[in-house]
Amino acid sequence: MKRAFVTGVTGQDGAYLSRLLLEKGYEVYGLVRRSSSAEIVDTKLRWLKIQNDIRFIDGNLLDTSALNRAVRDVKPDEVYNLAAQSFVKSSWSQPLLTSQVTGIGALNVLEAVRLEAPQARFYQASSSEMYGLVQEPIQNEKTPFYPRSPYGVAKMFAHGMTVNYRESFGLHASSGILFNHESPVRGIEFVTRKVTDGVARIKLGVEKELRLGNIDAKRDWGHSNDYVRAMWLMLQQDTPDDYVVATGRTTTVRDMCRIAFDHVGLKMDDHLKIDPALFRPAEVDILLGNPGKAKKKLGWEAMISLEEMIREMVDADLQRVSRQIKDARS
Ligand code: NDP
Ligand code: GDP
Repeated sequence: MKRAFVTGVTGQDGAYLSRLLLEKGYEVYGLVRRSSSAEIVDTKLRWLKIQNDIRFIDGNLLDTSALNRAVRDVKPDEVYNLAAQSFVKSSWSQPLLTSQVTGIGALNVLEAVRLEAPQARFYQASSSEMYGLVQEPIQNEKTPFYPRSPYGVAKMFAHGMTVNYRESFGLHASSGILFNHESPVRGIEFVTRKVTDGVARIKLGVEKELRLGNIDAKRDWGHSNDYVRAMWLMLQQDTPDDYVVATGRTTTVRDMCRIAFDHVGLKMDDHLKIDPALFRPAEVDILLGNPGKAKKKLGWEAMISLEEMIREMVDADLQRVSRQIKDARS
């Protein structure tokens, strides 16, 4: 039986990846940071009904002794580093923490692997945010990086270290440059989930309006369930490498939002308000990835369309908000 060690196991991708690995017969060990609200830590894993199938390990990306011990004890065949301060907007208010967790944290995991399990295969969660002010209209593995946020800069450091550890120490270290991907367990602060939750609240009469910032921004949005398959495939290759994981289609925030309103039979223009406070100090105007290499080498492609995903997310939020209303009444 193969053993996987997953950091960020309580996050969106941690949940979907763990479900995939469990289905494939892996033992899954997940790093969990201590929280005073232990009852909400595994919400995403509970949504996928796998909370009892993960072996949790207490730790933190910033605590190298805990990380080294975890990797030594687990003796993993595969290590997936998904943990990060992952919200771009917060990276301006918490630039040092973001650099430490998202940047140095990845190096801490690489060091733990190099010292304690050098035969293990390593995956780094790199991001299309590294392209930032895009240098080519369609981004591929060779497109130069130009990050536009402390998050993007930190991810670039982690990406560079992953390549460096592969080249310096011969680690089987791969990096997935993943474009935005979402699901019903996406964090509520990200724009897709903010929209689907907002639409559900308006539909159920809890709210009247939805406030957004720059709705002209364009993103290449896919589904987490598709994207975690690409992570696993990267670690099944004989040779480690870097891959863009994207759909090859880009959509404005405005059009994504319209899909959500249309799904519940509401008119977007009746409810959407633009709030200048939600604009960012520096914006990534457009992202559009070329997943050609992942298709050719991994046989991977996205299966779930943006429309299907947004409808799934709206339906999940209608279910959640209805339950909240019921609980509040009883
Ligand atoms: P989430 O924000 O949902 O999950 C982040 C995870 O990291 C959570 O489990 C969180 O724990 C954990 N974490 C945060 N800080 C620490 C720390 N100091 N020590 C240990 N764990 C910590 O992100 P996603 O699942 O969406 O993304 C997974 C990875 O992929 C991230 O690295 C993200 O930056 C990257 N990525 C995501 C993209 C996307 O569109 N989703 C696109 C490209 C890259 P807790 O539950 O306690 O908060
Ligand atoms: P990001 O691409 O990782 O920053 O993912 P987000 O989902 O946070 O943001 C995607 C895009 O939506 C960015 O260009 C944001 O500026 C834009 N956006 C517009 N309004 C909002 C909002 O209210 N919240 C968020 N999170 N993003 C918004």
